[in-house]
Amino acid sequence: MANHYLLGLDVGASATKAVLLDGDVVRARSLRKSGADFGAAVRACLKEITSATGLEATEIERVVATGYGRRSVDFAATTVTEITCHARGCHASFPHAMTIVDIGGQDNKVIVVEDSGDRRSFKMNRKCAAGTGAFLEELANSLDTPVSAFNDLAGQAAGDLELGSFCTVFAKTELLKLIADGTPLPDIVKAAFRSVVKRILEMDPLTGNVVMTGGVVAHNPIIVDLVSNALGRKVLVPDHPQYTGALGAALSAGEM
Ligand code: ADP
Repeated sequence: MANHYLLGLDVGASATKAVLLDGDVVRARSLRKSGADFGAAVRACLKEITSATGLEATEIERVVATGYGRRSVDFAATTVTEITCHARGCHASFPHAMTIVDIGGQDNKVIVVEDSGDRRSFKMNRKCAAGTGAFLEELANSLDTPVSAFNDLAGQAAGDLELGSFCTVFAKTELLKLIADGTPLPDIVKAAFRSVVKRILEMDPLTGNVVMTGGVVAHNPIIVDLVSNALGRKVLVPDHPQYTGALGAALSAGEM
């Protein structure tokens, strides 16, 4: 059977993700920081995908772009919203109704999906950093600790500390006080995770099967455990949760 290469590009505010499908099988993935030049991040992902597979870019039948910077992909056949792509990408792993919680770099979304995979409703917070990757990155800067160390640190927390505010600006003031008071770093990081979860739970009721995606979820499984504990039931996470939007874009390319 002839190969049928489809590329999904999710140009996020924080990270650009690419998924190459051959029919319905994932052949390659790539991720780059989006930085200030979305076009450069997209080209770097494309280069990695073609080098990894030995393909020429011209062998890719169709490209669909999604994400905050999707309009910067001038070679895409079309663009599709992140909401639709996340719904498609998650439905490929969990083919039933669900509530998707995506925690990205600069926004978070709650998307309610029907059994068919169509979205019923969604809520998106793009107005402030609360509950997003940017909130954790801001705290990481204040703590002079890489955000990549956060999950392990949170795993060492002993207390049930909560931050009074999830506003990045106020939380920072609170943190400086905690640091001055000698609060252990793991407890502070776990408190920041609790704050992300609290913000998510306030966005929309999380009903039915709950599926979590996005870079924050991919790198911080403890946040998934906290949501699971708060809801009193298991939360599902697809394989490669940071690539769900890119997968959905590639699947959309196959439906055109
Ligand atoms: P977007 O689609 O909005 O660009 P992503 O879903 O790709 O965002 O998630 C980006 C977020 O993932 C970052 O803001 C950061 O919080 C988190 N992240 C990315 N890489 C790492 C890492 N190595 N360790 C911890 N967190 C990470």
